[in-house]
Amino acid sequence: MAEPTPPPAPSPAARPPLLSLDEALARLLGGAAAHRIARTETVGSFDALGRVLAADVRSQLDVPPADNTSMDGYAVRAADVRVVGTVLPVAQRIPAGKVGEALAPGTAARIFTGAQVPPGADAVVMQEQCEAIADPAGTGLGRVRVNTLAQAGQWVRLRGEDVQRGAVVLKAGTRLTPQALGMAASVGAATLTVLRRPRVAVFSTGDELVMPGDPLPPGAIYNSNRFTLRGLLQAAGCEAIDLGIVPDRLDATREALRLAAADADLILTSGGVSVGEEDHLRPAVQAEGELTLWQIAMKPGKPLAFGRVRRGAGGDARADAGAIFMGLPGNPVSSFVTFLVAVAPVLRAIQGMPNPAPQAYTLRADFDWPRPDRRREFLRVRLNDGGGLDLYPNQSSGVLTSTVWADGLVDLPAGQAVKAGDAVRFLPLHELVGR
Ligand code: AMP
Ligand code: MG
Repeated sequence: MAEPTPPPAPSPAARPPLLSLDEALARLLGGAAAHRIARTETVGSFDALGRVLAADVRSQLDVPPADNTSMDGYAVRAADVRVVGTVLPVAQRIPAGKVGEALAPGTAARIFTGAQVPPGADAVVMQEQCEAIADPAGTGLGRVRVNTLAQAGQWVRLRGEDVQRGAVVLKAGTRLTPQALGMAASVGAATLTVLRRPRVAVFSTGDELVMPGDPLPPGAIYNSNRFTLRGLLQAAGCEAIDLGIVPDRLDATREALRLAAADADLILTSGGVSVGEEDHLRPAVQAEGELTLWQIAMKPGKPLAFGRVRRGAGGDARADAGAIFMGLPGNPVSSFVTFLVAVAPVLRAIQGMPNPAPQAYTLRADFDWPRPDRRREFLRVRLNDGGGLDLYPNQSSGVLTSTVWADGLVDLPAGQAVKAGDAVRFLPLHELVGR
């Protein structure tokens, strides 16, 4: 009897190429170049947190604008205080916000932190080292005994010591952190020129998905990626356009893509990009634009779909490059990690921000990882009190608990086992989110 014919082996051409993450990133960033956001907006600096500067911020003034005291005490001429116990008449009183008069030789000025040091004075003696001597009549400002020597320059913050007039204090491409906003305000910037926020449309695929608040039928799970991805986008300074869960039908998926592309710089989806899966995302993107499917040699997060969706099939066609499409894997840890390592750099690129490698630290592994994968791995780890790294015990790509527990990821080269005590490359989460 003849052997039954084995099923045909899948044609190698049908398998998406296996790319290194670095190669994939290079292609992603190359593709993102055509999607640079050009529009700028002028916003009040009070409300500019998280925005990206489109123009340098230059200081119109010296900061501080004048020499001032960093202590409560007495402004003097150092030359007048040559011996400990020198007694000087107090000629004036200068609280912060008031400008004193030139200090007459042989006198002192009572002065308070932040007040301008009067012309003629070159030092401040802190009040703890002085003794106030009241006038016998109780009128006037009395005298002061200085129980120390004065050095010229002591406790004086010099004009321009922080910023000099004309200096660039914040560069175009900088994300406005709370500190950056304070800096801009300190040089008097009331408004800032920033880039329009990236608009990112997000939808989830998967008929098993249910929203929290609804009952969970058998076979269903709650849609966590919708929350994680939206939060990541907001943390990255984007306007997230939430399109919810799209039904698993070709027409519905195509319609969602068209709707998304009309408004978005980037379309982000989760689920339905695993190899061999019967889903409508791939044909829908192919019908509405172009799609490349990649297998990235990383774990978690192997499948990644990348392409673009044309705009305005309905008549208001705009002559631009359309919206970038990125399809993330559905497993919650995979989509989280893929966002951090692949989507975040694209978001930076379309905002014209520099994309240096995230700051990594070489730290000691306090765990064993004896059976490494053939792909580059990103392990969820946490810093311990001893300055080393602990490993979350379950590294499965479905275990969201690991992402909440972790401080960061160990970036492990393909095929590399770890023994406790080994040095490993640690990427703190805060370096990857909202940089
Ligand atoms: P997929 O990439 O669609 O094959 O999905 C891989 C795994 O991720 C499956 O176990 C899905 O149930 C799960 N998954 C897909 N989308 C989501 C989502 N939005 N939230 C939580 N889990 C999801
Ligand atoms: Mg699915």
